[in-house]
Amino acid sequence: MSTKNDNILIIGAGLCGSLLALRLAQRGYTVNVYESRPDLRVTDISAGKSINLALSDRGFKALRLAGVEEKAREICIPMIGRLMHDLEGNTFASNYSGREGEYINSISRGDLNGMLLTEADKFDNLTIHFNNECTNVDLDTNTAFFKNTTTNEDFKVTSDIIFGTDGAGSELRKSYFLQRKFLFSYSQNFLTHGYKELEIPASPDGNHLISKDYLHIWPRGEYMLIALANLDGSFTVTLFLGHEEGNYNFKELDTEEKIKDFFQKQFPDALALIPNIAEEFANNPTGALGTIKCSPWHYKGNTLIMGDAAHAVVPFYGQGMNASFEDVAVLDGIIDQHEGDWETIFKTYENLRKANADAIGDLAEENYYEMRDHVANPIFKQKRKLEMDLEKHFPEKYFSKYSMVTFNEDIGYNEAMTKGRAQDKAILNMIADNDISTSLDMTKEQLREILDKVNRETENILDEDRIAKTMHH
Ligand SMILES: Cc1cc2nc3c(=O)[nH]c(=O)nc-3n(C[C@H](O)[C@H](O)[C@H](O)COP(=O)(O)OP(=O)(O)OC[C@H]3O[C@@H](n4cnc5c(N)ncnc54)[C@H](O)[C@@H]3O)c2cc1C
Repeated sequence: MSTKNDNILIIGAGLCGSLLALRLAQRGYTVNVYESRPDLRVTDISAGKSINLALSDRGFKALRLAGVEEKAREICIPMIGRLMHDLEGNTFASNYSGREGEYINSISRGDLNGMLLTEADKFDNLTIHFNNECTNVDLDTNTAFFKNTTTNEDFKVTSDIIFGTDGAGSELRKSYFLQRKFLFSYSQNFLTHGYKELEIPASPDGNHLISKDYLHIWPRGEYMLIALANLDGSFTVTLFLGHEEGNYNFKELDTEEKIKDFFQKQFPDALALIPNIAEEFANNPTGALGTIKCSPWHYKGNTLIMGDAAHAVVPFYGQGMNASFEDVAVLDGIIDQHEGDWETIFKTYENLRKANADAIGDLAEENYYEMRDHVANPIFKQKRKLEMDLEKHFPEKYFSKYSMVTFNEDIGYNEAMTKGRAQDKAILNMIADNDISTSLDMTKEQLREILDKVNRETENILDEDRIAKTMHH
């Protein structure tokens, strides 16, 4: 069977869909992509969700596979760590890694998506149809139904294989749920917090007003503000705040006076940099944040959901897009092994990927508490300092949980989570019990002793976890 004869339909040309389309076109398939929005390269629309994102090693691995890593790097701003801002306007930095060359990158969602679309457009066997919204997929006949959003015309397309990369509100996933062809498990867990984007404009001469080399965080427990740099000198600022709960919340911040008062009390240094705060607050939408888990992701060898459609996560690990890109790389590796047998490809993919997708969902929820709260906590600061020292002095031997998740693309999220959690517990316990010192200038020998202790304690915790798990079964 000549597999390249299979026609492929992709619903959604966002980050995951455009990379998937590009890769499948490179493999020689005939690919048709349907996207509900206009072409973001020619229409001035917000690309949806956040304006900029943190791109890291898992994302790069998949971009490399499609030969577009360098094109992405050209539009990246490296961020070497977090810069925390306290209430008095003091700042302190906490790097993401003690190793050289490990950093995350601020990138514009629109520019990255546009670059992928332009690369995809170069293939004659690939066509992107903009302004076509999928409304349903008939699983019996492998037919997707669309509405053209400019002409209002309804039409349908039947295809050998259908991929749903249509994001957290996926129509293909909805069709799984509604058509009841199989036992479909589904959960959607919203946070009580939402988000709103604001802007720190560039200085009059086009420069960044605060350091572009860090991801800025104003951690305040119940809420927090973050800022990531853009290439034009501006920053995109995101406020995370309760929808209706807490002393301050989106619902109650409904006048210019209340908004300014809130910022003046909680984020005075940021307020001084956001000139249009009241207008932006009123006009920019408040977004919801949620985690979606579901299974199965595929129906026979006919359809598969990928990216946020299969596993939307909250943004606090900066991994949603990276995980969605990684999906494409994992699928590609499995196509190498089973090309022609889509049912086996989809099954194998899901078996390999599901636990990792669940893990990044859990890690991202956990990290919310770390970012808004713990980063300012003294024991947490000591732990991060120790981890930086261990990574610096033993770059081949010590990897923090953050490093495993963010910079070690060859370790799955699930393994990174399991090992990282045990390691965190070991270090935090040892610091709390005064079992290890985190003084400023330790010798390499002292650090080596600490590393051995941490490793031993981590192994003990992992053993206990394994035993507890077997008893559970
Ligand atoms: C505030 C915020 C900050 C984030 N920050 C980060 C970060 O720093 N790092 C990171 O890695 N991730 C981050 N993420 C997560 C990241 O945005 C997503 O994981 C990523 O966009 C998923 O890509 P996707 O292609 O699966 O979905 P999407 O990007 O949502 O793309 C889906 C596409 O499908 C289209 N579509 C939707 N419905 C239909 C339909 N019915 N018919 C046709 N087309 C349709 C949409 O228009 C869109 O183009 C963040 C998310 C949020 C909300």
